[in-house]
Amino acid sequence: TYVIAQPCVDVKDRACVAECPVDCIYEGERTLYIHPDECVDCGACEPVCPTIAIFYEDDVPDKWEDYTRANAEFFSEI
Ligand code: SF4
Repeated sequence: TYVIAQPCVDVKDRACVAECPVDCIYEGERTLYIHPDECVDCGACEPVCPTIAIFYEDDVPDKWEDYTRANAEFFSEI
């Protein structure tokens, strides 16, 4: 799955939402989230993000690794 990290917080540009073919990017209070079970790893969202907030799960920078968990937890609370 792809993960949305810190650069999206309080930005929520939503360019990724328009690109996602399976509509698996959801809006939270301060950031957008990618549903880990719905993402088909197409990568379409990554290059269109103006803040470079989106990473493949294995490529999330260490300083933002908490976002991988936060992303998944956002959906487990629904
Ligand atoms: Fe959607 Fe593809 Fe990005 Fe996954 S990688 S969130 S399926 S656009």
